[in-house]
Amino acid sequence: MKSYSADIKDIFGDVEPRHILSLSGGKDSAALAIYLRDRVPTIEYIFHDTDKELPETYDYIARLEAILGKPIVRTTPADSFDHWLAVYRGMLPSNHRRWCTRMLKLKPFETYVGDGPVINYVGLRADENRTGYISTKSNILAVYPFQDDGLVRSDIIQILEDSGLGLPPYMDWGRSRSGCYFCFYQQKIEWVRLLETHPDLYELAMEYEERSVQFGEQFYWCQSESLRQLREPDRVEKIKSDWEKAQARKRAKRTNRSLIETLGGLEVEDDAHLRDGCLVCSI
Ligand code: SF4
Repeated sequence: MKSYSADIKDIFGDVEPRHILSLSGGKDSAALAIYLRDRVPTIEYIFHDTDKELPETYDYIARLEAILGKPIVRTTPADSFDHWLAVYRGMLPSNHRRWCTRMLKLKPFETYVGDGPVINYVGLRADENRTGYISTKSNILAVYPFQDDGLVRSDIIQILEDSGLGLPPYMDWGRSRSGCYFCFYQQKIEWVRLLETHPDLYELAMEYEERSVQFGEQFYWCQSESLRQLREPDRVEKIKSDWEKAQARKRAKRTNRSLIETLGGLEVEDDAHLRDGCLVCSI
């Protein structure tokens, strides 16, 4: 692994920084945790639990913890999503008003980190073109071991398979990313899959949406239609068939896929929405 000692000395002098990795419940941060386990023995693992995660995410984090052999600190914020929703006067979060990330992910991260020098390990891969959360705090240096060491998606899947952890279990039913069950970055097909896999969570997401009317706005998690409309059988069938057609077009364009990419469910993850989503929640 690339040595960061020169950068650390430049920035922090002789003060030894803490080494911290935030886990989202996604595959890349999980793979990075395993990658760093023996390379950075003093690393601290943390998980910013919004209390609205998928049950599969909690299960994945627990299994990862067993594989790592050290605790993953849950930084569950003292004030819950519902508390902040009340503070924001019932205004549900969206792409343009992402108070959820700020209050439930970034703030707990910065509180946990404190003011001392910290190296923050970020699981961005060498084959993706996203930018990570970079704290504006001057005591935090973000580093990208997968990018610096040239590791791509197939390497990440290999790390997860070799460790016995595998891919996050929500990918089995077609959810592409970790994060809150009602996350507004979901595609319509993922809402359909949430409906089919966790109808209780779909119902809760719909209740949030319908309560928002009391606060003077008509809010839809997926922008153009309500979850009540989306769950109508005809609509569900249309979303599924549109998605199948789009995948067929992509498959026709794509050649030379490796077996590992095929097994890893590239169809879902390759979509552009992932590049635009909230990194701290999903990496
Ligand atoms: S997963 Fe989505 S809804 Fe949850 S905190 Fe992140 S951006 Fe907000």
